[in-house]
Amino acid sequence: MLRTRAGAGRRNRQTVSMTPEPEIECIDCGGRCYLTTHAREDGRWYPGDIVTYKCRDCLDRWDLVMPDVEEFPGDDL
Ligand SMILES: [Zn+2]
Repeated sequence: MLRTRAGAGRRNRQTVSMTPEPEIECIDCGGRCYLTTHAREDGRWYPGDIVTYKCRDCLDRWDLVMPDVEEFPGDDL
């Protein structure tokens, strides 16, 4: 249930510190995928950043896109 809300003028515009999970579950084999992407020099992540995970079991690679901050659940009214 992902909806894209482009350009909506919401008041919550402050930067939320986003950090990708250090590990995710492999979509294929259920093994552990570890993060292989490093943050920028300032250690921050921004919406649209690509983070890459590699599965240590099946060696598959997964590219995830950091979500838009405005997609946080809970302020949907
Ligand atoms: Zn795997």
